[in-house]
Amino acid sequence: MKNICLLGATGSIGEQTLDIIKAHGDKFRLAAMTFGKNVEKAAEIIETFKPKYVAAGDERTYKKLKQLSFSYSFQTGVGEEALIEAAVFPEADIVVNALVGSVGLIPTLKAIEHKKTIALANKETLVTAGHIVKEHAKQYDVPLLPVDSEHSAIFQCLQGENPKQIKRLVITASGGSFRDRTRKELEGVTVEEALNHPNWSMGAKITIDSATMMNKGLEVIEAHWLFDLPYEQIDVLLHKESIIHSMVEFHDRSVIAQLGTPDMRVPIQYALSYPERLPFEEAKSLELWEIGQLNFAQADAERFRCLQFAYESGKIGGTMPTVLNAANEEAVAAFLSGRITFLEIEDIIEKALERHQAIAKPSLQEIREVDKDARRFVQTLLT
Ligand code: NAD
Ligand code: MG
Repeated sequence: MKNICLLGATGSIGEQTLDIIKAHGDKFRLAAMTFGKNVEKAAEIIETFKPKYVAAGDERTYKKLKQLSFSYSFQTGVGEEALIEAAVFPEADIVVNALVGSVGLIPTLKAIEHKKTIALANKETLVTAGHIVKEHAKQYDVPLLPVDSEHSAIFQCLQGENPKQIKRLVITASGGSFRDRTRKELEGVTVEEALNHPNWSMGAKITIDSATMMNKGLEVIEAHWLFDLPYEQIDVLLHKESIIHSMVEFHDRSVIAQLGTPDMRVPIQYALSYPERLPFEEAKSLELWEIGQLNFAQADAERFRCLQFAYESGKIGGTMPTVLNAANEEAVAAFLSGRITFLEIEDIIEKALERHQAIAKPSLQEIREVDKDARRFVQTLLT
């Protein structure tokens, strides 16, 4: 039996993780959970899974939670400190980080210090402070298991292989909600249109990141840290069906790909059951004849500027990806609340990157200061 701490239980990855825990009640148990604001959903999860520790995102939500009555008693907490309390909850073996944004960084580091296996969906953690997370995982000898479908695919392709014999990684990209539009056609697109992803149903932030292609940019940086490869060995390929989840080319030019119907529960389950594979009847079998045709195209850097920003920031390194991530989080929130247009997301990120002088090998303190400063700068652009 593996005991799980789930950070971000009410979100898209959170819910799908709960599906897996439910499907394998004899293998997994929810020991601790956190959620942001959705008390109703959290209450349902609590009664169904009976975790021993529950943390709410803020005081108001916490008060609402405390007013409810439950059929059993459990420990509670609130705010960022409680995210850490959950992450280090003694009974948990695995921490599934399904938070959105760089708020996921400190709980991940603390969980590593407590020797918890990390199943990481929260890519912003690796983007903002990849070197610190990696060094920490190495120091405490803790596995970092990818949940993101592309990284899970690469991880699966690499089982039994020698990482020194990798020629390159090919990360596939669906292209998001606007994959078939020209730049001109992106002027004036609405929030509703941007939130309408063709292949995946996900949280709002990652859906917008997919539409701008920043999601793929963040994934390139995530892959750089997870698989220890330079950016020159990480390519992006447009593949609109999301059937090939990613591929690895080896020195002998042999390419191994991982395929499947698009269902995030499959990579989530693999991270939880690794190194085993468990049956999962609910996922749909891949019938290639039904799909008939798989399409591929090059990712155009002019069209998808966020992808370019991510490669450039990643190559500069240090605090540059921290700024990329913080500016993106703020700009996406501003777009979602109707304060800026879709294309202004790119402009804001570009301005934030241009003004920043990267600090090489930053400390955690420096990362936090740079993150705050980039967010403050974006706010000045919005007023
Ligand atoms: P989501 O918005 O649906 O869920 C986020 C969860 O985190 C919610 O439970 C929310 O309440 C909680 N949360 C957010 N901010 C918080 C805060 N400040 N304090 C406490 N809790 C907070 O997001 P998601 O789509 O599930 O994505 C989660 C992460 O997984 C992201 O990093 C995303 O890029 C990555 N990811 C998601 C998918 C997907 O299919 N949804 C796929 C690959 C990777
Ligand atoms: Mg992905």
